[in-house]
Amino acid sequence: MADLARRYLRQLVELGEGEIVLAEGRGAGERGSGGADQRAGEPTEQRTGEPTDRRATGPARVAEAPATPEKVPVGLVVTAPERATDLFVVDPVAQLESLGAVETAVEACRKCPLGHTRLTSVPGEGDPHAALVCVGEAPGKTEDETGRPFVGRAGQLLNEILHAIRFKREDVFICNVLKCRPPENRTPEPLEVGACSPYLHRQLELIHPRVILALGRPAAHALLGSNASLGDLRGKLHRYRGIPLVVTYHPAALLRNPHWKRPTWDDVRLARRVFDGEAV
Ligand code: SF4
Ligand code: URA
Repeated sequence: MADLARRYLRQLVELGEGEIVLAEGRGAGERGSGGADQRAGEPTEQRTGEPTDRRATGPARVAEAPATPEKVPVGLVVTAPERATDLFVVDPVAQLESLGAVETAVEACRKCPLGHTRLTSVPGEGDPHAALVCVGEAPGKTEDETGRPFVGRAGQLLNEILHAIRFKREDVFICNVLKCRPPENRTPEPLEVGACSPYLHRQLELIHPRVILALGRPAAHALLGSNASLGDLRGKLHRYRGIPLVVTYHPAALLRNPHWKRPTWDDVRLARRVFDGEAV
């Protein structure tokens, strides 16, 4: 049994595992194969924690010194560019050459019913070379009246959040999944998101920021193609076509539920760390 365990551990070393130490004379043979079997089922078990009892009595893997201080859980990765799905159907939105051209197209857009009920379209605003893009859900009443994103109460809170992580509003780009206000601020319908999201994808392609902050579930869903709960999506580092993406609560949700301020703070600090190149 001990030989079997030894051979298994040697194989692990050959396969590139870190240093492995056998606790000689302390029953390595007694629990060796059981331990080895267990290990085989958990190839990624914690390597950085304190040795457990099981390790003390059986073959023990010595913890590798962690190079990175803190690990950010990895979330979803979105890689395939949508417009590559059909070579023969070219989406004109994907061809728009500048943010200004996107804006003009949005102004004229009637691709979904919201184009007929809005007062003003709200394409988004900010630095065209922004390294951080914030994506919300859809314009609300004040946004619909002014044509500017996040200028109501939720917008004030977003400004404060950005300020807390040392960003000025004018240095980032702020936009929404939907460019027109849904009546009574209802949740976007899937058909509306489908019709409108090419504008968002093109904006992100043109800006190519260093980090994306998705505010709320509809933004996270539109960008990650996921149906997961916000609780599952936040606190992780996702990727949108290679760009690091952090999900957090929508500022309007924070106004209703101040308990979410703490996790939001954690999320936006993560976004800041990714921006600073400290966590990728
Ligand atoms: Fe067009 Fe988007 Fe407005 Fe619908 S919400 S009309 S798709 S810009
Ligand atoms: N909520 C959003 O999602 N976007 C805005 O622009 C304003 C409020």
